[in-house]
Amino acid sequence: MVDGHIHLERGEYSREWVSRFVDQALACGLHEIWLLEHCYRFREFVPMYDSVCTYSDYINTWFHQKAGVLELSDYLHLIHDIRQHPFPIKIKFGLEICYFKEFESFVVDTAAGKGFDFLLGSVHFVDGFAFDHKPEHWSHVDVDTVYRRFFETSIDLANSGIYDGIAHPDSIKLFGHLPSFSLQPYYEELACSLSRQNMYAEQSSGIYRRCPGTAELGMTHDLLVCMKRHHVPIITVSDAHCPKDVGAKIPELAALLE
Ligand SMILES: [Zn+2]
Ligand SMILES: [Zn+2]
Repeated sequence: MVDGHIHLERGEYSREWVSRFVDQALACGLHEIWLLEHCYRFREFVPMYDSVCTYSDYINTWFHQKAGVLELSDYLHLIHDIRQHPFPIKIKFGLEICYFKEFESFVVDTAAGKGFDFLLGSVHFVDGFAFDHKPEHWSHVDVDTVYRRFFETSIDLANSGIYDGIAHPDSIKLFGHLPSFSLQPYYEELACSLSRQNMYAEQSSGIYRRCPGTAELGMTHDLLVCMKRHHVPIITVSDAHCPKDVGAKIPELAALLE
């Protein structure tokens, strides 16, 4: 069993901190964990967020509390140290990178070839709208338009050829909003693009853990069927932000893939 999306962010970069994730992973019977960080933690990525900070005062405040507190070299040093003295579990190290179409070449210049095991692309903003922060922020938007643009942006992410995988591919559903039209054509196009680019898709428990009343566990059934039909590799992930959530619902996620 694999947990392919675990955030290190709430602790110091030290062997002791990483060992707490490893201990929990071993206790859950995992054989592989993928550790990552949000790219905005690193000073190098801060310029990518100018437009979303301008879009909303809420995001501007949130961003400046969390962003740019480290340099990529801090993380790369930790990765180097852990690789020198491996733990008794396979660990991959990556970055979760917010996708903005106008920053594709910026991301390549900043993250490619730096020694990461994987680059994970995420849609966290739809034309500037940070859809996954608070349900009340949705009261000002057109649900159909947000859904269309979420999937169009996801397809652009896949076609960019930058990423190894796509994170939480239908996280737009988290607060229970539904479009008035069928999403099937978008599911087809997204799965087709991922397959063509040799990218994986996440089967995640993160959204369900946050919003159990409005989001089901993992991908919506029709999207999952579509991914499988296009032979897109699917990785089970917790999106843990602390050691105790490592491995959360991984067996249940795996069962849904059968
Ligand atoms: Zn994410
Ligand atoms: Zn994440």
